[in-house]
Amino acid sequence: MRSLIERLHREHTLASDEFRVLLSQCEEEHLSFINALAREVSLANFGNKIFIRGLIEVGNCCKNDCYYCGIRRSNQLIERYHLDEDTILACCRHGYELGFRTFVLQGGEINDDEMMIRVVTSIRKEFPDVAITLSLGEKNTSVYERFFQAGANRYLLRHETHNDLHYRKLHPEGMSLSNRLRCLDDLKRIGFQTGTGIMVGSPYQTIDTLVEDILYIEKLQPEMIGIGPFLPHHDTPFAKMPSGSMKLTLLLLSIFRLMHPHALIPSTTALATLAPEGREKGILAGANVVMPNLSPVVQRSKYSLYDNKASLGAEAAEGLLLLEKRLEAIGYTIDKGRGDYSAH
Ligand code: SAM
Repeated sequence: MRSLIERLHREHTLASDEFRVLLSQCEEEHLSFINALAREVSLANFGNKIFIRGLIEVGNCCKNDCYYCGIRRSNQLIERYHLDEDTILACCRHGYELGFRTFVLQGGEINDDEMMIRVVTSIRKEFPDVAITLSLGEKNTSVYERFFQAGANRYLLRHETHNDLHYRKLHPEGMSLSNRLRCLDDLKRIGFQTGTGIMVGSPYQTIDTLVEDILYIEKLQPEMIGIGPFLPHHDTPFAKMPSGSMKLTLLLLSIFRLMHPHALIPSTTALATLAPEGREKGILAGANVVMPNLSPVVQRSKYSLYDNKASLGAEAAEGLLLLEKRLEAIGYTIDKGRGDYSAH
């Protein structure tokens, strides 16, 4: 196992069967070993700096009905909201004062594209030096092009799974893996720094589907890779499904770091929700980004993708000092720069 991991470190890839072995037979000591190697790679490329992104959850209204997601269309038990243009800009102003130089606008998929284009244009005009990341789901090619022309730089769209059968167990009819992949191809071609990824331990995921995900991400070469555990939401069809495991999440984070030494990889809110030290463990397994929440505090609990989602304390933009302290405790500091992808 050690020699497999060392080869992954050296060559940035393995054969499918070898990934299968790594995923299915990784004991605690091997996990510590791969986490340490991945950490070294992060330190070599980014130093002990962690980039911060200000996350603005622009709305929880969604036309999709993904079985895993708390803001799915069929969930009639959550209060719906969407932030207007002025409120989003006010969040950006607050974030800019706190030192954020990347804003991530994420939301359910019913958003008004014209309004988002206006918002991006306004953010770009008022803050020429920030990076604007969008995570607004599947759109037509022309909408992505207009987002880019308006000044957006990055787009996050997890593919969720690269296995068609698995995709159909996570999503109802009407959503398709092929459209998701078309979106990712569009985003790359248009020139976005593009992020994709998966939920670790999503229902019906297997070692084989994970290997397919690893190979797809290797082929796509995204600039950002989002890997966090699946966590159940009590008002979804997957309410009784178990959460993804910390061990497998940390293993996958390290595998992706060894395969993609320069990628921007967040230690996700879901990981921080799964366990009290989750965020730190993610960083020590090779992640180099955290995304504190800049949304208006009154709306935060409504963006409930899964139960107990962390949005306060070190997960909150106003908790930056606390985050700083927690990162210092493991030997890292916050980098307030834009933190663009660079292959050097
Ligand atoms: N609609 C956009 C999209 O699909 O990319 C952005 C919002 S969507 C809620 C953002 C991400 O949340 C999804 O890609 C999914 O991986 C994650 N997510 C949703 N439900 C989750 C759950 N129960 N556990 C962990 N992550 C979840």
